[in-house]
Amino acid sequence: MRGALGGPRILLRRLREVMAEPVNAQERLDKIVTLIAGNMVAEVCSFYVMRADSTLELYATEGLAREAVHKTTMRAGEGLVGLIAQRAEPLNLTHAQTHPSFSYKPETGEEIYQSFLGVPVLRQGVTLGVLVVQNKSSRLYVEEEIEALQTTAMVLAEIIASGELQALAPPGTDIAVRRPLALEGQALADGVGLGHVVLHQPRIVVKNLIADDPVKEKERLEKALAALRESLDAILERGDLAHGGEHRDVLETFRMFASDRGWARRLTEAVMSGLTAEAAVERVQSDNRARMVRQTDPYLRERLHDLDELADRLLNLLSGRPMTRTAGDLPDNAILVARSMGPAALLDYDRSRLRGLVLEEGGPQSHIAIVARALGIPAVSMINNATGLVESGDGIVVDGATGLVHVRPPADIEHAYQEKARLRATRQAQYRSLRDVKPVTKDGIDISLQLNAGLLFDLPNLAETGAQGIGLFRTELQFMVADRLPTLGEQTALYRSVFESAGDLPVTFRTLDIGGDKILPYMAKVEEENPALGWRAIRIGLDRPGLLRAQIRALLRAAEDRDLKIMFPMIATIDEFERAKAIVGREQAHLARFGHPAPRSVQLGVMVEVPSLLFVIDEIAARADFMSVGSNDLMQFLFAADRDNQQLAGRFDSCNPACLRALKLVADAGAKAGIPVTLCGELAGRPVDAMVLLALGYRGLSMSPLSIGPIKAMILDLELGTVRDTIETLLRNNPEAASLREDILGMARDMGLV
Ligand code: PEP
Ligand code: MG
Repeated sequence: MRGALGGPRILLRRLREVMAEPVNAQERLDKIVTLIAGNMVAEVCSFYVMRADSTLELYATEGLAREAVHKTTMRAGEGLVGLIAQRAEPLNLTHAQTHPSFSYKPETGEEIYQSFLGVPVLRQGVTLGVLVVQNKSSRLYVEEEIEALQTTAMVLAEIIASGELQALAPPGTDIAVRRPLALEGQALADGVGLGHVVLHQPRIVVKNLIADDPVKEKERLEKALAALRESLDAILERGDLAHGGEHRDVLETFRMFASDRGWARRLTEAVMSGLTAEAAVERVQSDNRARMVRQTDPYLRERLHDLDELADRLLNLLSGRPMTRTAGDLPDNAILVARSMGPAALLDYDRSRLRGLVLEEGGPQSHIAIVARALGIPAVSMINNATGLVESGDGIVVDGATGLVHVRPPADIEHAYQEKARLRATRQAQYRSLRDVKPVTKDGIDISLQLNAGLLFDLPNLAETGAQGIGLFRTELQFMVADRLPTLGEQTALYRSVFESAGDLPVTFRTLDIGGDKILPYMAKVEEENPALGWRAIRIGLDRPGLLRAQIRALLRAAEDRDLKIMFPMIATIDEFERAKAIVGREQAHLARFGHPAPRSVQLGVMVEVPSLLFVIDEIAARADFMSVGSNDLMQFLFAADRDNQQLAGRFDSCNPACLRALKLVADAGAKAGIPVTLCGELAGRPVDAMVLLALGYRGLSMSPLSIGPIKAMILDLELGTVRDTIETLLRNNPEAASLREDILGMARDMGLV
C-alpha cells in the first residue's frame, strides 16, 4: 500500500470533481468509496451512516458485497464500526478478527480482511457515520494514512449534513443528522419558549473544504495564527480584561494554547493535506470537540473547551467576521444557544425578541439564571454540546419548567408546546387581573408580596405585578454587569432610579454580596478551596471597608428624604452585624457634617443565611430593625449541600423537619422582638413552600416577578389558620421524616388548594 503522503491532496482534488458531477447521491457515494480505496491502496472502503435510531447503516462499499449496502446495520457500540462511532476515535488494527469487539456480518463477506482502519465521520463533535478501509494483508496503517482518512471523512460529514443522503434512506428510517432531538438539562428559568436557534457565538460554516493552492493556504493559516497570538497579547497587556467578561487565567490559557507547537503543527499538516485553512481548523477542532464531549474529568474538559474557543477565534480571524453576534440583529422568536454566557451579554439582546435560552453550562443559582428569571426568559442549562447539536435557524422548544429542550421538534411536540404556551399566557393574564387585589388570606391575614430585583430593567415589574415593594435589591448585579468598579456617582444614580420607580413602596437594599460564585471580572481573583465558604459578602465588606463605605454613602445620598432599608448578607456573628452597623453610623455622621439631608429613616437588617445565627437569633433580633431569610444559602449551609451541585439537587427538601424548625425559629424570634421577618430565597416563589412559610409565621415574601401572580392566587384561596394547625401537628409528630411535602400536598389537595 502506498503511504497516503502525496495521496490526500490528489484524493481531495478528485473528491471535489466527484462532488461537482451531476450524478445521484448513491452514485456519488459509490464513486467516493472507490476513489478512497484506490488512493489508499485498500481492497475495501466502506461508508456507514448514523441513523436517527442510533443504528449505523452501510451506505456504500468498495470491496465488500454490494448486496449488503442499506442492509447491513449495527448499533453504536456493536462491532468495530459501532465501537468507533461510540468512542468517536479512529481504530487501527493489524488483525481485526481477534479484536474482542469484532462481529461478523455474513452478508458482507469481510472475514478475509486482516487489517482494518476506521475513523468516525464527525461534525462539531457529533458522530454522523464511520469510514473504514481494509486490507487482506496484515499491516498497521501509518499516522499519515489515519490523518488522510480523517480528512476524507470530513468531506463525507458535509455530504451527510447537506441532507442529500436522506433520499437513499430505506423506507421508515431517517439519517441522524437534523433529526429531532429531545435533550434533558437543568431548568434555570420557568416558562415555555418556541422559536429558532440563534447561536450566541455564530459558528463559521466552512463551505469551501478543498484548497486550490495549499502553499497559499499555509500562508493564510500562519498569518491568522500570528494575528491570534498578537490579539491575545494585546488584551493581556491592555489589562482590559472585563471586556467580554473574560478572566485573565482563561486568556493566559488561550495564549498558551495559541503558542502550542503541537496545535500549530496539526493545523499545518491538515492544510498541507489539501484542506483550506478554515477546513483545517475545523478538522482539528472536530476531533477535539469529540474528545471534549466524552471527557469526564472537569479540568481536562475545561481545557478542551478553551481549545475549542480558541479554534473559533481562529476561524473568525480567517473569515474576517466578528466573534460574537451583534445583539442588534436578532430575529424574532430567537432562542439563544451558547456554551456559557454572562449576565451582561444577555442584557445586550433585545428582550422583546428573545423567547428562550439554552446553555451548556450554568447552575440554577448562577447569575445568568437570576437574570434570565428576572427577564422572564425560559432557560435551560447543562445541555452537553448544545452548540454542536444545533444549526442556526433550527426550530427549537425550551421548557424552563422541566429542563427539556426539543431541537427540530416533530409537529406533534411543537403543537403540544404551543398549547402549553397558550395556557400559560392565559394563566398569566388571569394573574395580571389580580394585580390590584390585596394578598389577604381567606381568614383575613394580610401578607406582603415583594419583588427581588437588581437592575434597572427590573423596576417596571413593580407596576406590572402590583408587588408591594422590593424585598431584596441585589446590589452586586450592577457590579457584575459592569466592566470596572462602578463609581460612587454611578451607584448613587442607580439607587436614585430605584427609589424613583418605587415611589412610596419600600425597597430593601442588600449590600454587595460578592465572592463565592459571584465574581467581578475586574477584581483580582482569590484562589479558594471552598469559595461558598470563603471570603465573600460582608466578610469582604468588613475587611475592605472602602467598598462598603462607598456603597452606604451612595445609598444614603440616593435616599434623600425617604425611608432607607439596608440589609447585610452572610452575617455569621453578632459582632459582624454590629461592625456593619457602625460603618453606617459613621457614614451618616459624615454626611451630616457636610450638611447633606438625612433620609427620613434608616433601618438596618440582617440576612439570616448562615446557620450560626439560629443559635443567637433572639440576640440578633433584638439588635436588628428587620430580618430576611436567605433560604438559598441557609439551606445549603444547613445541610452542607452545595446549592449548585447537580448531584445534590433534590436530595434535601425544604419541607424537611429540621429545615422547617430552623425557619420557624427565625419567624418566632422576629415576632417576639416585634420586628418584621421576610424570606427572599427561591422558596418564597414556590406555591407549596410559600404556603408552608405562611403557616410558620412569615408575613412577607420576596420573589421573582413571575411568581407574584401564582403566590397571590394561592393566598387568596388560603384558610391559613387551618393550614397552620395541620402543619404544626405534622411537624410535631414526624420529626424523623425526610420530608413532610407529601403530607402537606395531601392536606392542600383535601382543602382544594392544589
Ligand atoms: C439567598 O441566599 O437565599 C439569597 C436570597 O441570596 P442569594 O441567592 O443572592 O445568595
Ligand atoms: Mg444568599
